[in-house]
Amino acid sequence: MTAFVRAIASHIEGENMQGDDKRLDSYIRQARPRFERMLAEMVEQPSISMDPAHAPDIRRAALLAVQFLRDLGAEARIVETGGYPVVSGGWTTGAKHPTVTVYNHLDVQPAQEPEWRQPPFAFRKRDGVYRGRGATDDKGPALTALLAGHYAVEHGVPINIRFLWELEEEIGSPHFAEALRQKHAIPRPDSVVVSDTIWIAKGRPAVPYGLRGLLGARLSLQTGASDAHSGLTGGAARNPLAELCALAHACVDARSGRVKIPGFYDDVVPPTRAEIKSFLASGFQVNRFMRAYGFRTLRTTSPADVLRRIWASPTFEVHGLVGGYTGPGVKTAVPGHGELKISMRLVPDQRPEKIFALLRRFVAKQNPNVKVEREGMLQPFRGVFRGPYADAIRSAVRAGFGKEPAFIREGGSIGAVATMHRAWRVPVLFLGLSLPEHGYHAPNEYFDWGQASGGMRAFASYFAELAKLP
Ligand SMILES: [Zn+2]
Repeated sequence: MTAFVRAIASHIEGENMQGDDKRLDSYIRQARPRFERMLAEMVEQPSISMDPAHAPDIRRAALLAVQFLRDLGAEARIVETGGYPVVSGGWTTGAKHPTVTVYNHLDVQPAQEPEWRQPPFAFRKRDGVYRGRGATDDKGPALTALLAGHYAVEHGVPINIRFLWELEEEIGSPHFAEALRQKHAIPRPDSVVVSDTIWIAKGRPAVPYGLRGLLGARLSLQTGASDAHSGLTGGAARNPLAELCALAHACVDARSGRVKIPGFYDDVVPPTRAEIKSFLASGFQVNRFMRAYGFRTLRTTSPADVLRRIWASPTFEVHGLVGGYTGPGVKTAVPGHGELKISMRLVPDQRPEKIFALLRRFVAKQNPNVKVEREGMLQPFRGVFRGPYADAIRSAVRAGFGKEPAFIREGGSIGAVATMHRAWRVPVLFLGLSLPEHGYHAPNEYFDWGQASGGMRAFASYFAELAKLP
């Protein structure tokens, strides 16, 4: 190619890109009433998975979702499980095209908080702000991705787009793995994109690529049939609460948080300097963090150290010590029984099964009379920080919001993510649209047109980028 031809070619490509941008912008403008109508109808279904009384509303939300997909020319079906169903659907454009599955959930948190300034399931729209339970978590992002998918398919992007809408996310996805086993209804894609996460600050797009896992346990000790009087037995009687405190002290340094169980840190992959730098680009502020959670002091005041601790390091927490006398004053009884409730947040590449074995062995050595019982387990998840998929997300976020995203991690766990990763072994990426002020899991929840329209641009660009990957 001569320089002249190259200049012409890049000019034409530039014109095409501008044409694409214009087409997308006009699609988004025209799609707005449809988006608002769908969001209103969906928010008005009180699909609270935690409350069995709302089972009919969950069913109605699933049927509505199927209707939305079909109205846009997609195929859609309800996939039954032993619990609430999953909605699966999308567009198939060609057997040779790559397939992406977009994951969202359509169940919501309960909404009994007294601070609600409106009925939580009455959708309110004003100046591009959409209020109601589930607006940002996760109905708004789900419908945003749906319309972006519709745009991509209508404009001939060679990609198969599938949607997977769960209705049990807020109760820990108990039947999600079962749904994924129905392979004809939910086929394995080439990649997954999850839209169910929050930025750290408005105007600073953040893309998580890792989640912590979880291992809970109860450590109990019985030393007597019942409480005994300390004046009659104290000195000879064992004290299970004190012994459990000693055991907690043996497990963790309470001031620093350092876990003392041998082998606990063996499989931890520490974050690189580039990762920490990326965490800091999220707009995180220690002061705001302290205010948000009402903390007086923290174990550290360094932003990098706070982020390393909450996103990329494991923990050992004591949640409860049960037993003995808890009424007013002091009762001089020696308890006969005590229980310590603990959990550990785990990071890649720790395995909850292995950590539980280490805990059990350590406790047996420290105090052989303590009984250890496991309470729930979630695998940590490590996604991609570099490579073609991460680059596609980067340019999608730039297209949607005009800014590079900060790649961050999440301190919590999303059960469905690890389940999809385990079932399919394909890249799982995140493209979240919620803001901290949206009231995630809080009263007066809302979503807004700024995030929705930016999100549509980002998703449309992501689908186009995926179609280009080898
Ligand atoms: Zn959610």
